[in-house]
Amino acid sequence: MKTRYLNTISIAIMAVLIISASVSAQDTNPLFHEKKVKNFIPHMTWYEVEQALKHTDMVLIPVGSIEQHGKHLPLGTDSYASIETCKLISQEADVLVCPVTLAGLSEHHMDFPGTLTLTAGTFEAVLFETAQCLIRHGFKKIMFHNGHGGNTVSINNVVRKINQYTKATAFFLNNINVIPLQELRIPYDWHAGVGETSLMLYLTNPLVQMEMTENPELTFPEIVEKINSIEKRSGYLNTIASANMFAPKVSGKNATTKDMTNNGVMTTGDLKDSTIDLGKRSRDRFIKAAVKFIKEWKAVTEK
Ligand SMILES: [Zn+2]
Repeated sequence: MKTRYLNTISIAIMAVLIISASVSAQDTNPLFHEKKVKNFIPHMTWYEVEQALKHTDMVLIPVGSIEQHGKHLPLGTDSYASIETCKLISQEADVLVCPVTLAGLSEHHMDFPGTLTLTAGTFEAVLFETAQCLIRHGFKKIMFHNGHGGNTVSINNVVRKINQYTKATAFFLNNINVIPLQELRIPYDWHAGVGETSLMLYLTNPLVQMEMTENPELTFPEIVEKINSIEKRSGYLNTIASANMFAPKVSGKNATTKDMTNNGVMTTGDLKDSTIDLGKRSRDRFIKAAVKFIKEWKAVTEK
């Protein structure tokens, strides 16, 4: 009699536990939609990284920016694009992905609210110290992937510092050459333009507000206009034009983003031409080339 009574109690307790477990599943944070991604260090446990280190010593550090991207793309565009690109690469190549900062060097966009900028020294220190941590854990091949042009010089500095002062080898993955898609050859299609909007339509679709797209009114600095008016100009002159754009206020060049575009977008194309398909095809080209290179690099160092 006593045993039957205890059995009934334990069945009742189990039922309560099962019900409370299913209730708690419904009660989890409704804003968290991420699924665990293979090889993505923030989703992994230390034990999984330890296991991964038995077959790979390669890690990718994606960087980008928190800066204005017009009215239709999020401030995190460059960082999300870089992180998502690296995640996709890491599904096909034996490499882990370790983002560390969302902000980059964006002084020239500071007129637009929400933009953040680090100084070059801070940014480079964060990247170098991250590499040092990863090297301590056994990673020997460090790659950087960059989603924001303003970070390029600093990443080159960090790559050089790793190669000069540590046992690891560093590589700037953006140096992989990929022929751009024919359809994307708009004369000027840089910031938040057709190319970048298409990329985000593919990589982070729910964050793109196509109904907010607005083609910009562009005002180039005088020297840039002059160079642009020369039909057969040399590549060097194009470099001189670039040097006179996207410069912070302190330069006195009147070439901040706000000086050059009314809404933050820099394109002479039509934003309505942006498509998921364009974004996917251009990204697939880069991912394919990156995966090929990573496999080649791994093969030459395998015993
Ligand atoms: Zn961007």
